[in-house]
Amino acid sequence: MSFTSLGLSEPILKAVAEEGYETPSPVQAKAIPAVLEGRDVMAAAQTGTGKTAGFTLPILERLSHGAPAKPNQVRALILTPTRELAAQVGESVRTYGKHIRLSSTIVFGGVKINPQMMRLRRGADILVATPGRLLDLANQNAVKFDQLEILVLDEADRMLDMGFIHDIRRIIQRLPKVRQNLLFSATFSDDIRKLAKGIINNDPIEFSVTPRNTTATTVTQWICPVDKRQKALVLQQLIEENNWHQVLVFMRTKHGANKLASFLETKNIKAAAIHGNKSQGARTKALADFKAGAVQVLVATDIAARGLDIDQLPQVVNFELPNVPEDYVHRIGRTGRAGATGQAVSLVSADEFKQLSDIENLIHKLLERRFVDGFEPVHDLPASRLNARHRPEPRPKKPHSEHRDGQRSGEAARGHKPAGSKPAGTGRPTGARNKPRRGGPASSGNRTGDARPAPKSR
Ligand code: AMP
Repeated sequence: MSFTSLGLSEPILKAVAEEGYETPSPVQAKAIPAVLEGRDVMAAAQTGTGKTAGFTLPILERLSHGAPAKPNQVRALILTPTRELAAQVGESVRTYGKHIRLSSTIVFGGVKINPQMMRLRRGADILVATPGRLLDLANQNAVKFDQLEILVLDEADRMLDMGFIHDIRRIIQRLPKVRQNLLFSATFSDDIRKLAKGIINNDPIEFSVTPRNTTATTVTQWICPVDKRQKALVLQQLIEENNWHQVLVFMRTKHGANKLASFLETKNIKAAAIHGNKSQGARTKALADFKAGAVQVLVATDIAARGLDIDQLPQVVNFELPNVPEDYVHRIGRTGRAGATGQAVSLVSADEFKQLSDIENLIHKLLERRFVDGFEPVHDLPASRLNARHRPEPRPKKPHSEHRDGQRSGEAARGHKPAGSKPAGTGRPTGARNKPRRGGPASSGNRTGDARPAPKSR
């Protein structure tokens, strides 16, 4: 299939071609015709699937046929959970819409509101916004929705996780009842279905996709058992000895992220922290520097890292394991994207045994343990075991409208490939050695690729 068969007009096809896209990704092949038809869409698709173009391209097409937005009015509203994602989506709107005459703008919190109010005075055909700031602007009459035709909720699951549910409901109340609704979410949990019920019109098109290039993607995962106090030093050693040039490090806390970035700087490793307490300017700069290679290590909290489009990241490090095991899968999804190989390393101390065990059970796999010479832990990390009750791997399933009463469905399989085959250049780190584990084989299969919790049965 080619883009030309999807019903997009020449100026949009030209922009797509200029981006070098040849074939529509599955989410694009499904979403573009549906949106052009004016249907509501509910899609289980995460970052990396090409979902942004999936909704942006047909929105541009549809809007290009109508009258432009009047002052302070908006014709398509795209809500995103984070500022970074808003900036990225806004950038995509500009890129794909560069040959058509539509206006767009981006608004998010953490920066001055006045310039945003000024920009909105002219009206925007497409507005990309985070919920809190949008409400502030709406409350001050800086943005109005009389002309609104299309609403997009991007990464709806994250918006709920981040507590935006009330803001979203308040925003929806302000919108015209007749409109087209597009909802994109990595998962279709009960909460998402509840939210969707109040937003989506009857008879939406529903589908689920797996991330692009998953078959070509290889992520090597291993853990390094180490005492808590030694983690920063181990990380320094791994970076230096293996010459890791672009590392995304995950921390649980903002304070921890700052502290680690400062520590690495004292060791002459260029590092920056990115989290919710950083000003927007600092976050944007850190990300740009990281992408450009001026910053070698980006230390991020989960929320700050969510949705960042950093392609082909070679190295992800979990400095601490996440409390929610699904976050592990999201985190390692940052690496080995778009057909590249990647390595995901977790520094695990004895007190994180429970988190480790939860993760291993979620992904149905015991993670290989490699010790770093000189940093063998004093506090032993117990051997883990998979629960005997082996849960079946959920198949990517279409989110089904008949199951709105809460049945979980439509989970997209995640884009992580087995650790079984070793990709070139991601071998054992210098100074790290494999140690036979008491808890089972070094690699217990290759099911990480589709690792998701089993669907709840009711
Ligand atoms: P997204 O899932 O929207 O965050 O997109 C992930 C990445 O895929 C972005 O860097 C896009 O530029 C890229 N992309 C989107 N659609 C295509 C396509 N059809 N062919 C190649 N790359 C694409």
